Amino acid sequence: MKLIDNHCHLDFPHYEKDREEVMEKCMEKLELVVNSGSSPENNMSSLELSRKYEGFIYPTMGMHPVKIDGMGLEQLEKVKQNIREHQKEIVAVGEIGMDYHHETSKEGRKKQERFFKRLLKLGEETGLPVVVHSRDAEKRVLDILEDYELESVIMHCFNGDMNMVEIAVKRDYYISVSTQVLYSKRVGNIVENTPVENILLETDAPFLYPGDGRNFPYKVHESLIKIADITGREEEKLGKIFNRNTRNAYLKVF
Ligand SMILES: [Zn+2]
Repeated sequence: MKLIDNHCHLDFPHYEKDREEVMEKCMEKLELVVNSGSSPENNMSSLELSRKYEGFIYPTMGMHPVKIDGMGLEQLEKVKQNIREHQKEIVAVGEIGMDYHHETSKEGRKKQERFFKRLLKLGEETGLPVVVHSRDAEKRVLDILEDYELESVIMHCFNGDMNMVEIAVKRDYYISVSTQVLYSKRVGNIVENTPVENILLETDAPFLYPGDGRNFPYKVHESLIKIADITGREEEKLGKIFNRNTRNAYLKVF
């Protein structure tokens, strides 16, 4: 069956040498792919790729918390303005969020928070779903999210504890399970404790493949097998549920 990868970065240089080939394989094995923007440059390359593969690649535009170093608020306003200008072409604002794994200073974390809040405002303003990165900052991110009226919240690559999973599910957020499920006990545990209606599949390709090998969007099939195993459910049925969830999460734009 054809699945959806709801988070990857096919515009990254990791695919520079064989992107056409990789795309062929993706189109053969998948229904569609959501390609996430993460910086001013990647927002544009994601958009360009989606134009080239119209109807198969759907882009998001955002500002990744680990890429805001040296960036001021005027620059963030420029990013926001660029997103506004393309809001009809994109399916979400993201990725945006906070990352305490990479940012350990108090000051840096405060800055992440300021940026995140401004981008959430943009999510409210545009009515687009938000794709949220929350590495090691899950609790703070969930606290902040509570103050915003958002159409749809996708917790990308979620790694929070069970208490946080519960909070996210209660608020009808989507828990996007990456290929980490292939090797992470923690993520397996999250899958076990999340209603299947809240689960989405993603690879975060080129990242997060076992053994640090290059990842590909069609590896969501391996995750599906693993999740079927964890939950004791039938693969095909589960795949259909995940595809449906993804359509709902992105407000049925595809
Ligand atoms: Zn990503």
